[in-house]
Amino acid sequence: MPSSDLIVHRPEGLYCPPGDFYIDPWRPVSRAVITHAHSDHARMGSAHYLAHRDSEGTLRNRLGTDIDLQTLAYGEVIDHHGVRLSLHPAGHVLGSAQVRIEHGGQVWVASGDYKLEDDGTCTPFEPVRCHTFITESTFGLPIYRWPSQPTLFADINAWWAANAAAGKASVLYAYAFGKAQRLLHGVDASIGPIVVHGAVEPLNAVYRAAGVDLPPTLRVTDPGLTKADLKRALVLAPPSAAGTPWLKRFGEHSDAFASGWMLVRGARRRRGVDRGFVMSDHADWPSLQKAIGATGAERVIVTHGSTAVMVRWLREQGLDAQVFATEYGVDDNEDDAGAAPEPSSEPAPKAKA
Ligand SMILES: [Zn+2]
Ligand SMILES: [Zn+2]
Repeated sequence: MPSSDLIVHRPEGLYCPPGDFYIDPWRPVSRAVITHAHSDHARMGSAHYLAHRDSEGTLRNRLGTDIDLQTLAYGEVIDHHGVRLSLHPAGHVLGSAQVRIEHGGQVWVASGDYKLEDDGTCTPFEPVRCHTFITESTFGLPIYRWPSQPTLFADINAWWAANAAAGKASVLYAYAFGKAQRLLHGVDASIGPIVVHGAVEPLNAVYRAAGVDLPPTLRVTDPGLTKADLKRALVLAPPSAAGTPWLKRFGEHSDAFASGWMLVRGARRRRGVDRGFVMSDHADWPSLQKAIGATGAERVIVTHGSTAVMVRWLREQGLDAQVFATEYGVDDNEDDAGAAPEPSSEPAPKAKA
């Protein structure tokens, strides 16, 4: 492997030797650049953090209010040990960023998690030209193709409206950071009241503070909420709320789960819900290909997901492709990456010599 690589794999995480910093390290380090605040990318214990300014609320909420955090706007450039670093929209969740680094005439981009379709709750993905692109491949299989947002929300609204007409609450499970706010932003709030679980509301507050338009949300303990209201309500809760006493307050209800994995029948069955809505904050297979192509990169490094399938496809396109074994998407309970229905049985291919 050429020694001039701007990002290398180390036991702590992805490391930039000339800049002496890590990107989304999974162990505590001195300097950590964070692509976004999902728990598999933003971990506690590092001495200094750098992230997009819209990630400040979620990072302080999760890693501690007293973390040493420097923030940047998208496109703002800083120089660190002669390495030019800037953050660019990844379209994944509020504040999510691709990290562009430039040194010695080389440009590398580490994209973290990303998705291409604009969901209205975060700055849309922008392709960044580079020599080497580091990509995820959470849904890197040809079967993964997402419905468009208008189709998705027409289905969700129809389900909610039918339940409300039948006098049943609609309990929709979704991860509390990112998915829940996309659902709030996209549903037709005229159908009925919207009740959110206690794990969701603090993140709504962060989105609202960043200027994202979300409809009014209620807590189940709100005194103004009547029994009749609850029978028409949309209830947003994290998957961990399933089977808890909290749900008893809604009586007989219909339930659903929103995730990219809902495309797979086995995953729907395992969740044991009435409905599965296919919604992901990761790129689907065509979008991964489009995003990678738009970078113009000749070399691509794949970090997590269906890495073997993606590397094979990239090599078929004549690109230099390899895998970095990371800890993203591992033991993660808030991002689609952690809910894979079946782990790939294929061994990851070795890097090209
Ligand atoms: Zn994520
Ligand atoms: Zn992730």
